[in-house]
This record gives sequence, C-alpha cells and structure tokens, in this order.
Amino acid sequence: MNTALIDSNNFYAACEQSLDPKLVGQPLVVLSNNDGCVIARSAEARKLGIRMGKPYFQIHHELTKLGVKIRSSNYALYGDMSRRLMSLLAEHCENLNVYSIDEAFTESRHYSSQELQTWAYQLRATVCRNLGLTISIGVGANKTQAKLANQIAKAEPIHAGIFDLTTTNESDLWLESIPIEDVWGIGRKLAHWCRLKGIKTARQLRDMPSNELHAKCGVKGIRLQRELNGHPSPTFSKTEKQETRISRSFKEPITNLEELKKAISNYVVRASEKLRQQKQKAGKVTVYTSTSLFISNPYNKSATASLALPSNHTGELLSIALQLTEKIFHPHYPLKKAGVLMQELHNENNIQQNLFMHIPLHKQHQKENLMQSIDQLNNRFGAGTIQWAACGSQRSWTLRHNHISRAATTRLKEIPIVKA
Ligand SMILES: [Mg+2]
Repeated sequence: MNTALIDSNNFYAACEQSLDPKLVGQPLVVLSNNDGCVIARSAEARKLGIRMGKPYFQIHHELTKLGVKIRSSNYALYGDMSRRLMSLLAEHCENLNVYSIDEAFTESRHYSSQELQTWAYQLRATVCRNLGLTISIGVGANKTQAKLANQIAKAEPIHAGIFDLTTTNESDLWLESIPIEDVWGIGRKLAHWCRLKGIKTARQLRDMPSNELHAKCGVKGIRLQRELNGHPSPTFSKTEKQETRISRSFKEPITNLEELKKAISNYVVRASEKLRQQKQKAGKVTVYTSTSLFISNPYNKSATASLALPSNHTGELLSIALQLTEKIFHPHYPLKKAGVLMQELHNENNIQQNLFMHIPLHKQHQKENLMQSIDQLNNRFGAGTIQWAACGSQRSWTLRHNHISRAATTRLKEIPIVKA
C-alpha cells in the first residue's frame, strides 16, 4: 500500500485569493504576525523573485513599485479554510492523517497507476471548485517518499500537480534533483553535516554508508534511509504532535513585567485549549521572550520547567508559566516578542499516576469538567467569553495588522456579498 501527501499550494495566499476575486492572478504576499516578514507568496509574487522571510519594512517600497498586494495574516480565515479542506479530503481519502494546517497524508490503495491518476485529478478538481484552492498530490512507498513526490509535483509544471514516485523509472534522477536540505526530517545542522561529507542530494543520502548515518543520528537516520529506499513506514499511525507553540510579536515593545505576564497568560490559555483539542497533556513548559533582532544589542531568554504530572489544565500551566516569566524578564530591554512552548506531549489517556502526588479520581474529574465547560462556552459564544484574570482586560500588547482581510467565513457580519 502506498502513501499520498496532499498539500495546498501557497496556502495563506490562496485563502486570501479564494475570498477576494480582485486578488486572483495578482502578485500577493502575506505578512507574519505584527506585519513582520513575508510568510506566503502567490505564484505571481514568487515569479517576481520576492523571497520568503524578508522583513516587510525593508521591502515595502519595492513591493509598492512592483504592484504587489499585501495582506496581514488572518489566522481565523486560514484555520477555517483548513477545516473545510480537511473535511472535504476526508470524504475522498482513506485514513486521512492531518499533518499541518495545509497538509495531510492518506493511504493510497489504488491498484493501477491509471486509477490513481483518475482519483488524483478528480480530487484536485473538486477542491478547486469547492474551495478555490489548488492542491498538489505526491505518492510514494512511505511518508518520506510521499513528501519528496509532492515537492516534485509542485516544482515541475509538466506533472500538473500530481507525481507518483513508485511508478516512475527515473526515481534516481528525481531523488538526485532534491537538495539534502529539502528532505523531510533533515534539519539545518544535519544538512550541514551531510554537505561537509559531500552528501548534497536525497539520492546521495539514500546511498551513503548506513553505519555513518547511524553513528550520527541513530535509528532515526536509518529509518529515513530505509524510507528513501522504498521500505514502508513502520505503521501508518496518526502523527501525534510533539510540541505546541504559541508566540506573537507585540505592536509596541513591552518594558514592564506585568504586561509581559498578561501576554504570556494569553498564550498559555490558547496553548492549553489546543492541548485539550489534541487530547494531549504537556510534561514540560518553556516560555521565552526577545527584543527585535534589528537593534544594536538584542536580548533573548527562555526558561523551562518540568511538571510532576503532565497537564492540560489552564490554571496549572498558568501558575508555572507565570513563575518562569519572572526569570526571563529584563527591565532594560524593549521586548518585542514572546511565546510559550508545550513539550513532552503525552496522549491524555496514557498518563501514569505519579506515586508521590496521587490525586483522588473525583478531584481529577472535577478539574477536567471545569476545563470542558469553559471550552464549550468559549466555543459557543466566542473566544474570551470566559477569561482568566491573569490575561488582563487591556491589550496594549496586541498585534499590528494593517492589511488584514475580513473574517469572511467565520463572522456573520463579514460574510461576502454576492451581486448577481
Ligand atoms: Mg502548502
């Protein structure tokens, strides 16, 4: 059985274009939180050579000159479009495994390559018609190969967004065309190590001596090499999230501890909600903050604490995060960004009790019920209906988003008007 990776092209830019016909066919970039850097480009903006990650303040004159349209990131819109995309895919795919906001793996049981092509063409057409999004489909013997096949599907227009690495006679040539940095699971450090050894492409990684790879990165490296060779992934299990992170830049720099605590509290509340949605609990919490990178002496600091018992209870996580915030704050630096990171995530059903801090079952249930009720109220009546006092009511640290589109799919007041 093969694996397919379905990925939506230029997702954030495509969501904006799908709701605003004026943007279709136009060069468009989407900016990160606080209108910081370019984080998505339409195909037309890519053609103009606009690079990812460029700070907006450095290139906004050039963008205006080129007639590039700008949008602030609108995560309410992207989250909603992602839910629509995934539920549409789930109707047409077996065992869909959502991997990120715009990517999902699926099992591909289609026997002949003809059947596979028909399924893929129809799926692309359906997604394009219903949501206005273009997807690419890559098929391989496992997830690693499916990722690579997807990159090839996107990069070469001749494939029309569909590529099957299992049926081509030229898989060596294709693997040779993929730089080592683009192989799934190869981080920046490992890519550097490979380059020093003369390993520059996916094919060279596949063919390098296994013992060297094993010595460098253990079983993980061997598994990756086996997958590049076409061995099936160990199990087609749901890929559980390893970390949950919420971080933002501030509109105005923060210089006092109380403001930083309010900002971090808001991120912890959101991160705890996410953990509960993912049915996970965190065993470790990290908070961090930094100044702008563009000042003469930048500052950044993080602090981490392990929990005696993994948790997704907002109150418990808040009290730890607020203690950590005192450790990272520095009054002499204008802080521009902060975040929380929930780590060592466990499935909430597989957690062992800690012998030394046994909590009676009824107490545990009481706490879970409270969180459930808060989540339900906030889902039903809007985020922030039930607030945590630590989050404060004034939000001087919120984001700058001068170019944001409407919440056209999630807020009734902002629903698009169609004139027929
Ligand atoms: Mg994508």
